Amino acid sequence: MLDSGNVAMISGRGSQDTRDAAWSAFDRLPVGVCLATASGLIRYANPALHGLLGCEPDGLPGLGLSDFLLDGDGPDGKPLGTEASGGSRTVRLADGSLRWAMVAESPWETPFAAGRADRPAAEALRLLTITDADALQRQAAASQDGGRRGEMPVVDALMAAAPVPLFVKDIRGQYIAVNDAFARFTGIDPAEMLQRTTFALTSPAAAKEHVGHDRAVMERHGSVQYDAPICTADGALRMVSLTKAAFRDGSGKAVGIVGAIHELAEARPNEERLEAILEQSPVGVSVSRRDDGRIIFVNTRFSELIGLPRERLIGSRARDYYLDSHQRQRVLERLRSGGGVTNMEVQFKRADGSPFWTLFTVNQAVIQGVPVNLAWIYDYTERRSMEEALRDMASRDPLTGIYNRRSFMELARSQLARAHRFHEPLSVFVLDVDHFKKINDSFGHATGDDALRMVAAGCQAILREYDILGRLGGEEFVVVLPGATADESRVVAERVRRHLARMPIEAPDGTFRLTASIGIAGLDGATDTLERAIHRADLALYRAKHMGRNRVAVFEPGM
Ligand code: GH3
Ligand code: MG
Ligand code: MG
Repeated sequence: MLDSGNVAMISGRGSQDTRDAAWSAFDRLPVGVCLATASGLIRYANPALHGLLGCEPDGLPGLGLSDFLLDGDGPDGKPLGTEASGGSRTVRLADGSLRWAMVAESPWETPFAAGRADRPAAEALRLLTITDADALQRQAAASQDGGRRGEMPVVDALMAAAPVPLFVKDIRGQYIAVNDAFARFTGIDPAEMLQRTTFALTSPAAAKEHVGHDRAVMERHGSVQYDAPICTADGALRMVSLTKAAFRDGSGKAVGIVGAIHELAEARPNEERLEAILEQSPVGVSVSRRDDGRIIFVNTRFSELIGLPRERLIGSRARDYYLDSHQRQRVLERLRSGGGVTNMEVQFKRADGSPFWTLFTVNQAVIQGVPVNLAWIYDYTERRSMEEALRDMASRDPLTGIYNRRSFMELARSQLARAHRFHEPLSVFVLDVDHFKKINDSFGHATGDDALRMVAAGCQAILREYDILGRLGGEEFVVVLPGATADESRVVAERVRRHLARMPIEAPDGTFRLTASIGIAGLDGATDTLERAIHRADLALYRAKHMGRNRVAVFEPGM
């Protein structure tokens, strides 16, 4: 007799020529299916129904429904309607014995026959599904939903009506029934899916995982629930949640699996899952109320970044953690205009007051009716300081650590523009070490390098903080003195010259001293350029060299 255990033996026997091709989909269903005319004449019955009733193969077509279905033609005595109906009924088996079965009926129109030229208009038929109630009872026991056992709906009707993709697999893992929702979700025709295994749906590795879960649930009672990727109709891999339970034969031995697929996106948000994701996030997350700015949620990373425990953060104000009120204003303006902020570089401060750079993202949301700001803080300090170091490296002369020619010119040019704008004085001097070639020749190139470092440091020691010192190349240095006239610069340059001349420099066999010559130029009118000023300073330097070196000369017209 039909029980859940023999669903795997159902074969596709039957004469193909007597039946609509669309009906063959029923051949392998594990429940009895029968198509009958309005008057109850059986046109088709699937092998499962023949098995259930103990009939010869193809013995049912031609007989009447009343030959096996007791208590009248329609289940519950209802006339054939447009709605599906169902209930439990007594059926008479071929050997005359009576059995309890679940019978559901719905109107049937062959979907493929409608509109087909080689057939007259589709005949209105009744589709009946007949399921062994004992087997159902066992299936119900296998499912966790024991509370609804009394009103166990007919499997087929339930499957057809369910908006959730459902499937039944036998003990070998082959699909023996899938519903329309399953077909829609996977894009695989139900008939094609039958006799296939999970391997048709997903990658071998993922399929193995499914098989593992199937084995586990067959070994024990109850159900399993897990998330896994499944290939969907649109060809995309989508994360779904699967719920599976085994169904068992009379001895309690598992004979198959019933399962449901829930799309995670459609599922109710699982707060535990969301919280686990937030907790593992490398990004600090906070949620603050928009009305009073108070923080109502933070993840662990956020509290690590700020350096305060969660309890101290909850209830405090988001504004307290901004370092710079201008940055905060910019964020607030964007939020006030209804927008958000994405990856803005914003500096926050830790509980101990130390600043850190972040990439800051804020969006507005409404959570459980409360308007909130959702903030994501990515700690950017390390990257930022690396970038700063790189930027710094690119602007510095590697030997002396002072500005290289390019960045000197950039900085000096902006100082010059400033001087023009505010009609302030500015002067430039160029310094060249005297007979430097001899230093290289006498003490070696390495000592020459040391000497250049000492000259740079010596200049820096004398210059003011806002003077800009750069290395033009070789043993030539250049200084911009904002706010200083040529005469004022002369005083500074003299101090530099004297300082360098007294400075002892280490060589392999003792110390030596060097001297330098300096040429100075002040600004020449409101349209003077940096290049022209440096050129005039060069001419003054040439004069200083010519006058015997170790001296300062200020540019004069005619030089
Ligand atoms: P003057 O008093 O006329 O300036 O004589 P000088 O020898 O200083 O002038 P010159 O420009 O003829 O020589 C500069 C020398 O500086 C030539 C070059 O080998 C050396 N030099 C340039 N760059 C470096 C460097 O980075 N390290 C070292 N050790 N020497 C350098
Ligand atoms: Mg020189
Ligand atoms: Mg030189």
